[in-house]
Amino acid sequence: MKEKGSNKQIDSRSTCWYCGQPATQMDHINPVFLGGNNSPTNLVPVCSWCNKSKRHYPIEEWRKKLALKYGYSFSEIQRNFWISRGITLPPDAKFIFYFEKMGWVIS
Ligand SMILES: [Zn+2]
Repeated sequence: MKEKGSNKQIDSRSTCWYCGQPATQMDHINPVFLGGNNSPTNLVPVCSWCNKSKRHYPIEEWRKKLALKYGYSFSEIQRNFWISRGITLPPDAKFIFYFEKMGWVIS
């Protein structure tokens, strides 16, 4: 992960990857409910609000719900990130999560 300027203050291990608030929990990107596992590539730190809001939704389903409230377009980085994890983004989905803005990737 790149760090420069004020971004040094922000720690990807203690910040919610979805919204940027302080993280207090871990979320399964691909829900256990839908076959997600406990591997590091499937876990990200999140705040309680995002964890509750996302619940058992797959990321793209949750993103659609959020997109009804917020209007953003996907970047190239976002699409490549999710494609690398086997997730195809719906062409009309709109919402940028915090980790995508920051350029953080799950490793
Ligand atoms: Zn959050």
